[in-house]
Amino acid sequence: MSVLDEETKHFLFELADRLGWRKSRVLEAYELAKKAEILEIKEEDNEVIGIRIKLESQSRKGEFYYVLVGKYGAKCNCEFSTIKKGICKHIAAAIIVWYAVSMIKYGKKINLDELSWLKESEEGM
Ligand SMILES: [Zn+2]
Repeated sequence: MSVLDEETKHFLFELADRLGWRKSRVLEAYELAKKAEILEIKEEDNEVIGIRIKLESQSRKGEFYYVLVGKYGAKCNCEFSTIKKGICKHIAAAIIVWYAVSMIKYGKKINLDELSWLKESEEGM
């Protein structure tokens, strides 16, 4: 794993805290985020307001997860997310990609306080 800059590390730990997850689990999501394919970036008023990504399943090659995250909600087509309505690792990965794109394009962090749908979630998929 590459060395994380302090700001990114801080963001990841803040995310872990919000979700009530172990730090190691958020770091797993970070590893997934690095392999994500960005399908769409939603922007408004010089701000990234959402993102859509595609992730390949780690256990089943050739199977993909499609994940959407934005100010108003999050969606993933994995079993955990659709059945349990929980926040899966794929959604966490999408948030991390969103953060990275926002930092690169506008030098702006995303504000986790604004994501009303972001709540503690059991550690599912
Ligand atoms: Zn998922």
